[in-house]
Amino acid sequence: MSKKDNYQIKQIYLEKIKIIKNYNNSYYDKSKPIVDDAIYDSLKNEILELEKTYSFLKSKDSPSISIGFKPSKSFKKVKHKTPMLSLNNAFNREDIENFEKKILNFLNFKNRNNIEYSAEPKIDGISASLVYKKGKFIRGLSRGDGIEGEDITENLKTIDDIPKILKGKDIPDEIDVRGEVFIKNSDFEKLNNKFANPRNAASGSLRQKDPLKTKQIPLNFIAYTYGFVKNFVISNQIEFLKSLKNWGFKTNKFNKLLKGIDDLIQNHIDLEGKRKEIDYDIDGIVYKINDFDLQRRLGFIANAPRWAIAHKFSSNKSISEIINIEIQVGRTGALTPVAKIKPVNIGGVLVSNATLHNEDEIERKDIRIGDVVTVERAGDVIPRVISVDFKKREKNTKKFNFPKKCPSCGSVTIKDYNKTTKKFDAVRRCTNDSFGCEKIAIEKIKHFVSKEAFNIDGLGKKIVESFWTLKLIRYPQDIFKLDYKKISSLEGWGKLSAANLKYSIDKKKNISLSKFIYSLGIRHIGQENAKLLSKVLKNSNNFFNLGKHNNSKELLNIDGIGETQIKSIKDFFSNGKNLAVLNELKKNLSITSEKDISKNGILNEKVFMFTGKLTGISRAEAKSLVEKNSGKIISNISKKLDYLIIGEKPTSRKIIEAKSLSIKVISQSEFLKMLNVKNF
Ligand code: NAD
Repeated sequence: MSKKDNYQIKQIYLEKIKIIKNYNNSYYDKSKPIVDDAIYDSLKNEILELEKTYSFLKSKDSPSISIGFKPSKSFKKVKHKTPMLSLNNAFNREDIENFEKKILNFLNFKNRNNIEYSAEPKIDGISASLVYKKGKFIRGLSRGDGIEGEDITENLKTIDDIPKILKGKDIPDEIDVRGEVFIKNSDFEKLNNKFANPRNAASGSLRQKDPLKTKQIPLNFIAYTYGFVKNFVISNQIEFLKSLKNWGFKTNKFNKLLKGIDDLIQNHIDLEGKRKEIDYDIDGIVYKINDFDLQRRLGFIANAPRWAIAHKFSSNKSISEIINIEIQVGRTGALTPVAKIKPVNIGGVLVSNATLHNEDEIERKDIRIGDVVTVERAGDVIPRVISVDFKKREKNTKKFNFPKKCPSCGSVTIKDYNKTTKKFDAVRRCTNDSFGCEKIAIEKIKHFVSKEAFNIDGLGKKIVESFWTLKLIRYPQDIFKLDYKKISSLEGWGKLSAANLKYSIDKKKNISLSKFIYSLGIRHIGQENAKLLSKVLKNSNNFFNLGKHNNSKELLNIDGIGETQIKSIKDFFSNGKNLAVLNELKKNLSITSEKDISKNGILNEKVFMFTGKLTGISRAEAKSLVEKNSGKIISNISKKLDYLIIGEKPTSRKIIEAKSLSIKVISQSEFLKMLNVKNF
């Protein structure tokens, strides 16, 4: 990299540092944030990423080094005897596993998996350090920049939860007790909205120049750790928390001693579920190694302890900016606008695309390129833009012009008219016949090989795209006539991987009628309708004959198949290219008739849903196993559900929702027991 490049990178970096310093000043010093936490966190991440990539970037104001903000001039500055640090964050199980792995490596504990943690709710308030000498409260400091704090003793004295004299035994000669000052949500609501949130309200009122003003606002204090200490006899965090209580402090009733990652995760799920009922903001759980000797051995990295981590709750919304709006063409020709946004971390996942659904949605919400928007990511669903911050809109932005021609093939696009609702569809579609539009054709092939259809191992979306570019495929049937010699010579491929692909494709030449119907991607014919059709049609000949004579009356008798579906089937069979594809597929495949699935299988029509990764079996296979045993599968939590089966890294929201509806939540092994099998 040239000197010029390095110079430019440094300028970009310093600009970001300048901005974050300004944010810190408003947030920590003035208690009035000028941006949302999500924007702050994404800027912080950008700075940390730059530092990771370019080791020459350094600044004393970097969030990797600095904590909070230098103490305000309004208060006397006092040095902390032991620095007050920040905490590293974890967002998911993998982060927690890495945290533990690093600790075990550091301590050289190769085969230990019995590390004990004190798991404590992370109250979203502001921390304070209370110095007690011979049991008497003598000074109270804010965190400040972690090294020096502000002397806010008089203000802290107004808080009832802070004991002025400690009681009980084993009180050290000197200790600085640390904890969180916070305001209850119910009290915050009564404060006629002077502050953006309870955390800022607590921070603002605690740092009032006049202690009488602090006293007017009901502040609370929960103690959880110590800094400097003289003559200390306690050996672990849980014992310390008990002592704090005996000395007269309030401690959190949800603190727990836990062992093993499974228990940490379960506790996280449980507490996230209770969050609504707790009258103060908690934004995660802090895990601290319980043993003080181990804590001392582990020490600190940069500005946080190595022995603790904050496991954040999944925030499912964030703020970002629309960089561009792209139009994707789907398998059915639907034109879907997608917002390319500045990457933002939502609940531990970096999101850079968010759906804008359709033309009407853009029109209704007046979404424009350059807008600052709120993006939501709920479970496994594609992230979506939910609102625009019009106050932040630049003056000269233009309304977004939705294209009237297909961006892939240039054909006319239309909005269907719905005779029943007497309205035009919200979705605009390309009118080119199925395989005439490149994007539609690629999407059709991706659908054809997808998990629920032909389920071809090793033929994912990316490979379909690259085979298309290389002109190896144009129609679904081309998959069964691939040029493996050519494939084995492609970059990233070899003889073995090409042979593996051939093996997985050949294996799938035998397919059930319902999967075959589904794989064709006929509009309005999803998995359920494909199953219904295959049950009635019984064999592939009857299906192929749908194009020859009018079977619509028979189909209308099928519960679930209506006029919309029948019209779609007719349209499909009236297209010459589709007929040619069917003809070719017939030659290459063996389509098996549907087995009559008995209704009195072991699962007895019970309704199941999965969340998380299953071990030793794919989701698609597990679904078919349920159905083979007369169970049913649904994909949304509802009262109809009997069992939610949880695998690895489940979506906690689904578990919480299921529990709130008293649905049984079971593990994969409990599910196996129901099927009377030991493993898959
Ligand atoms: P942090 O708040 O994420 O974590 C550290 C803090 O957790 C500790 O200082 C302590 O106060 C608290 N805590 C609560 N319970 C605890 C327990 N049981 N044990 C130990 N600590 C406990 O880190 P931070 O550096 O103080 O602040 C970063 C946060 O502030 C981020 O969420 C960021 O978005 C926000 N912020 C926002 C802006 C803005 O402009 N919007 C500016 C600066 C910071």
